[in-house]
Amino acid sequence: MSAASDHLLDATIHHLEDLQAQGVRHVAVAPETLRALARPAARPAAPAARPAPVYQAAPSPVRPAPARLVTPVAPPVAAPLPTLPPAAPSPAPALVRPVPPGDKAAALAALRERTLACVKCPHLASSRQNVVFGVGAPNARLMFVGEAPGADEDRRGEPFVGAAGQLLTKIIQATGLTRESVYIANILKCRPDTPGQTTGNRKPTPEEMATCIPYLQEQIDLIQPELLVALGATAVEGLLGKTVGITRLRGHWQTWRGIPVMPTYHPSYLLHRQDIGEKRKVWEDMLQVMEKLALPISEKQRQYFLKG
Ligand code: URA
Repeated sequence: MSAASDHLLDATIHHLEDLQAQGVRHVAVAPETLRALARPAARPAAPAARPAPVYQAAPSPVRPAPARLVTPVAPPVAAPLPTLPPAAPSPAPALVRPVPPGDKAAALAALRERTLACVKCPHLASSRQNVVFGVGAPNARLMFVGEAPGADEDRRGEPFVGAAGQLLTKIIQATGLTRESVYIANILKCRPDTPGQTTGNRKPTPEEMATCIPYLQEQIDLIQPELLVALGATAVEGLLGKTVGITRLRGHWQTWRGIPVMPTYHPSYLLHRQDIGEKRKVWEDMLQVMEKLALPISEKQRQYFLKG
């Protein structure tokens, strides 16, 4: 099998697994495809009959950024299908139907239900008050990823509602956007427990992060934001697997599955550092985000947090 076929087969399997994770239990398979699947492989070298998957072309990872905030819900389009080496004599129709864009909210709601029922980390499931899934527009062009819920978020079931969250909301508003028009989620959906402590937070463990990250990955796959902002070192580590210090990484574009990622300081860091220079750094990162999204930037906005 050629590398191109391998790639398409992997992509098809990945897509089917995504659908399965979203609760889809059946896919439409045309009778011709079933017949083709039942036939032995056309090439003698092939060890077993392999289907000729026809994979619905994925949207291009980096989309042009028109000056709007929320990706409009477009009607399902018949995207051109990449052709495969002719493993089966008859042209195979589409193997699966991708989730239509209009179903994003429903798919996110289904994912939310699964996440809310999660008990994969028994210690967190028993200590939490709420699973903090995420909040915002299903079609958001911009998505913020934080570390984990704190006490306020655990109580309210919404990310970034405490002191750091209020600062994040101000940062979002300073760009001209609103909290409702972006999407906000965390690496961990449960508050890391702090047994024996009545206050304070702790960093998620690598095991907790590895267990929870598939939920975030599914969220991103569904929302398909144009840009991600990783808030702080834990978000960078969880998303990108990089443990390089956030001080070195912030302000430098990274990529997650083709989506540009801007690492920046976590707002709680800014709460503890009152100097204007650190605020300016986060703001410069946000200016880069605004530029990439082609959002309008006023002269006043360009000057925020500049001395004198
Ligand atoms: N800090 C985070 O990283 N996430 C939240 O939701 C709240 C505080």
